[in-house]
Amino acid sequence: MVSELTVIGCRAGSPGACGPSSGYLLEVDNRLLLVDCGPGVVASLAVRGVLSKLDAVIVSHAHADHCADLVALAYHRLFPKRLQPLPLFGPGSLAPVLEHMNQVFGIPSLQELRKPISTALPFTPLYPRSSCEIKGVAVTTLQMKHPVETLAIAFPQAGFTYTADGALTDELVEFASNTNVLLAEATYLDGAGRDLDGHGHMTAEQAGALAARARVSHLITTHFASCEERDAICERAAQVFQGTTLAAEPGLRIGLG
Ligand SMILES: [Zn+2]
Ligand SMILES: [Zn+2]
Repeated sequence: MVSELTVIGCRAGSPGACGPSSGYLLEVDNRLLLVDCGPGVVASLAVRGVLSKLDAVIVSHAHADHCADLVALAYHRLFPKRLQPLPLFGPGSLAPVLEHMNQVFGIPSLQELRKPISTALPFTPLYPRSSCEIKGVAVTTLQMKHPVETLAIAFPQAGFTYTADGALTDELVEFASNTNVLLAEATYLDGAGRDLDGHGHMTAEQAGALAARARVSHLITTHFASCEERDAICERAAQVFQGTTLAAEPGLRIGLG
């Protein structure tokens, strides 16, 4: 079985000089899953020649840096040529956001674009602490500590876990255990002046500690608030974690076992 992760975007908030906001391509057993769809992700997928090859989309939470490009993705699926509906998964709280997108960005004068999201991207909710199969790929979830309902997602077949956004907790350590590659948010270089616990993000050191406590083999830091701090964040995480540590950047590919 071939499993591979490709980073499409690694930026928190808006896209930046270091590429799109959150977006990751996961290939498991010839299935191509897009995990998160932040601003800039759809254009990057088009440039890479894979935009029309997706089998499913999973969105971790309803913050714009993880889901705003769903509108662009829906338009792509419907105009000028209508493609097959692409199944979309995410926390239940994403559903009203999707309906707002339908209402705001629907084009009543074009039949296929009246409700672009629900037409192109039929939605199925995922629940915290649950397991399911998406196109034959096993998925398990954990509720993160973050201001909106947010799901960390593990892919046991690929030995891969993605934290999405959220604070470091004992539950997250347990959830990330038994995986080889951990893609962990490390939004900030340090916690100075940050409400890490209240708002729910990790520093570089906390991402490293998570990887160490979960005993993973590889850590990929991501979700950088500042492009300029990307390498420094990775280096600081590596001071805490003895395994292989990489900084996410668009185009980074890593084989999963
Ligand atoms: Zn985010
Ligand atoms: Zn968030």
